[in-house]
Amino acid sequence: PDTAALARAESLIRTIPDYPSPGIQFRDITPLLADAAALRAVTRALIEPFAAAFDVVGGIEARGFLLAGAIAAEAGVGLVPIRKAGKLPRPAASVSYALEYGEAAIEAHDDLAPGTRILLVDDVLATGGTIAAARELMTTLGAEVVGTTVLMELEALNGRALAGDVHALFVI
Ligand code: AMP
Repeated sequence: PDTAALARAESLIRTIPDYPSPGIQFRDITPLLADAAALRAVTRALIEPFAAAFDVVGGIEARGFLLAGAIAAEAGVGLVPIRKAGKLPRPAASVSYALEYGEAAIEAHDDLAPGTRILLVDDVLATGGTIAAARELMTTLGAEVVGTTVLMELEALNGRALAGDVHALFVI
């Protein structure tokens, strides 16, 4: 991996205090996305441990979509959107998971052949609930989840307890 380019990419993640609610340090990746060299460096590094080991990338709504598009183009694979409930016209499965306050659900279409090897991607691993739900959703639909990759892991939240093994470019 290009460590200098990755260090620069990490410096382009902007921290917004108290967004979207008091006490949350929001990690805003839009400056990184806007920078050609940083976007290219993270795209390559996100898939590096999974070279040729996946057939499709699963992008988790919403910021995971952006990384998934770049990964699909770089790796030459297809893309599956893993969406918040109510967005897809014909969801084949739905998985609910707990949020800090309340519940959320994610859904996907069933467009993959059984056993398709999928790499999940999102921007941030926090509590791990979203990734755990995405993994369950894809497994329910018959895909084989070969890994999960994220830009940033918030280590204090211990997301791996729920999400399992995750490849994280930046751990804070
Ligand atoms: P979790 O299910 O708790 O791991 O939360 C992960 C989801 O929430 C991801 O889709 C992230 O985009 C988003 N998220 C959680 N915490 C943050 C944060 N501090 N900054 C940016 N996004 C976050």
